[in-house]
Parts: sequence; structure tokens; C-alpha cells
Amino acid sequence: MADVRCEHLVRQYAPNVRALDDVSLAVGDGEFLVLVGPSGCGKSTLLRIIAGLETADSGTVSIAGRDVSAMTPPERNVAMVFQDYALYPHMTVRRNLEFPLRVRGDDASARESRVARIASMLGLEPLLERLPRELSGGQRQRVAMGRALVREPAVSLLDEPLSNLDAKLRSEVRAEIADLQRNTRTTMIYVTHDQVEAMTLGHRVAVLERGVLRQVAPPAELYARPANAFVAGFIGNPPMNLIPLASVQDGFALPQGPFSQRLDVRRFSAGHGDTTRIGEATTLGVRPEALLLADPGTAGCLDVTVDHVELLGHETLIHTLVGAQDSADARASASTDSRRRVTARVTGTHPLEHGKPLGLIPVAELIHLFDAHGNAI
Ligand code: ADP
Repeated sequence: MADVRCEHLVRQYAPNVRALDDVSLAVGDGEFLVLVGPSGCGKSTLLRIIAGLETADSGTVSIAGRDVSAMTPPERNVAMVFQDYALYPHMTVRRNLEFPLRVRGDDASARESRVARIASMLGLEPLLERLPRELSGGQRQRVAMGRALVREPAVSLLDEPLSNLDAKLRSEVRAEIADLQRNTRTTMIYVTHDQVEAMTLGHRVAVLERGVLRQVAPPAELYARPANAFVAGFIGNPPMNLIPLASVQDGFALPQGPFSQRLDVRRFSAGHGDTTRIGEATTLGVRPEALLLADPGTAGCLDVTVDHVELLGHETLIHTLVGAQDSADARASASTDSRRRVTARVTGTHPLEHGKPLGLIPVAELIHLFDAHGNAI
């Protein structure tokens, strides 16, 4: 087992494609770190540089305290699992699992005990004599993972390993990966674009945007205290509402007009905010569950119009438009402006008609404010 340290990594593929822009990241020994971000943000590039499959233009990678930047992948003792698990089709599961141990020169009894251990951890014992074509997609992916981990590498790198599986299998194999990591305590770096995977698997989650690391934090902290508007909008489903502010003095004012709420400074700071910088806020962030329903016109409420409603049984998602009360035309123009869309999530069933005026009251402790650079205040 080992820790991984990346310092100031830069990778520029072309003059206008900077896949990694000064990325520094430390992953602890035995830690499960998930790297998440939209497609093209540089996740695979970072993973491949750690594995040694790609070279950074500048910066270093250390594993277990050794600078491995100039080492080949085998010298680094890392295992990599890709989304397209390439098992050897003519070999049984047992032979597939044994293969890395044979390459390494383990003797027969060491091979047998290691294969038995990994097969039991991944529930592969009944499948050991089958060929890959006799396995389901989920089983194949489990074998691929077993083959990568059987030699107990110092670090395991997983690049979207579940993306070829259907939703149900994904959540099953996700639970197995979490168990496996807990049992082996291997240092894992796991790449995904799926924030649910990130939040459920990671001890910490690193969020990348266009080659820049935006925040590295435990999942609960990422959700409760996003460091910037990008993380706020990326983590959480439906995402946090990000509402532009016209001004913030005694209260918030929206460009659309009717909403103005006195900011309860004491309650805001009881949440997490830096009250000395409130005047710099240009965006108000409120998660859908931090909005309470009220009659339109109630003091301190955001006046909105219901656009559409999703009744999910245990909860209702109410999608609304800000500043669209006046007419159908106003609604039409508001509906094309994402900054005027606000979603509320309430428990239970709330059938509300399209076009109905509604009030939404943000819970002061759960409000987020962002400055003109998108940084949290
Ligand atoms: P992700 O894994 O987050 O989807 P990647 O690391 O694959 O992102 O890619 C990051 C950026 O670098 C993207 O803009 C991608 O198009 C670009 N890129 C990746 N690999 C290459 C390459 N071999 N040549 C040129 N551009 C590349």
C-alpha cells in the first residue's frame, strides 16, 4: 500500500487544449479517492499520468514517497482497470486471474492462495472454470477487477469501470468495489463522470473542471460547503439553484424584480458563510430541498410560477420560473433562461398546476453566496 502525490501537473495536448492545468493532489495510504467531472475535464489524463501511460509536460508523481515520474508502468506497481475490460477470451476465469501472477513469477501455491482470496472477495468462486463468454457483463467486470487487484498492487486506478453496466448492476458492483477497498485497504483512485458514484464511493472526492481541480473534500462537505459555483452546480441532483443577484445590501435583490429578502446575517453565518463579504455576492445558491413552499406574496419569499411538476411518490420536484408571473410571454422568455429556473424538492405529493403562482422561501442557514469569480463567500 502507498500514498500518491501529484505536484503541479500540466498536460497540454495542443495550444488550446490544456487537459491538466497545474494539478496538485495528495491521496493517502489506503484512501479511496474519486475523481469526478464532466466529460473532457482531464480525469483520464490524470489517471494515465499516475499510471505512467502518459507523460506530463511538467510536474511530478510520487508513489510511497518515491518520485516515479520517469518510471515505466510496471515499475510503479499500480494496477489499472478500464471500462472495456479486456479478458483473455480463451482462458478460464481462474487462468485470467492467475495471469498477472504467472507473469510476475509467483509459484503455484502462492498463485492458488491469491486467486482463492480474490475470488472469494469478489464472489467469483462458482465461476472459476468458466470462459469469459459464459459470463454476464457484471461478472466479466468483476473478473477484470480481480485480475487487476490479485497481485495486491500498491495503488489501484479505475477508469469508469462501471460505465458499460446497466443501472442495477452498476449499483451492485459499486457496493462490491466499496467492500473490496475496505477489505484490502488498497489505495484507490477511481474516475467517473457520475456524481452518484463519486458521492457513494469516495472517502474524498476531487472535482475537476477543464483541467483545474476545483475542490477536494469528503462527500458530505462537498455537498454542504461547495467551494465554488461549479462544484455547487455539479454535485447534487437536481443541482443547486444558482440565481443571479442584482445587489445585496440589506437583502437580496434579483434582476427580475419582485424578490427581495432581508438577509438574516446571524442565521446565514450559523450556516457557514463569511458575513464580512456578503456585499460581494453576485449569485445566490439554494439547494432544491432548502426551499419552503409559501403563498405568493409572503414576506421574504421568492415569487415564482410553476412550470412543471414531477411527482415521484416520496417527494415532488417543483420546477418553477422566477419573474414570470405577468403573462404567458414572460413565462416563455423566462423558460429559455436557465438562470431563471428554480427547482424545489418537497417531501410527499404536491400536485401543482402549470402556470400557478407560488412562493418559495429559502432557509437562511442553507443559503450559499458566490462572488463574481464563482467562489463561495
Ligand atoms: P476526461 O477523462 O475527463 O473525459 P480526458 O483526460 O480524456 O478527459 O481529456 C481531457 C482533454 O484533453 C479533452 O479536451 C480531450 O479532448 C483532450 N485530449 C485527451 N487526450 C488527447 C490526445 N491524445 N490528444 C489530444 N487531445 C487529447
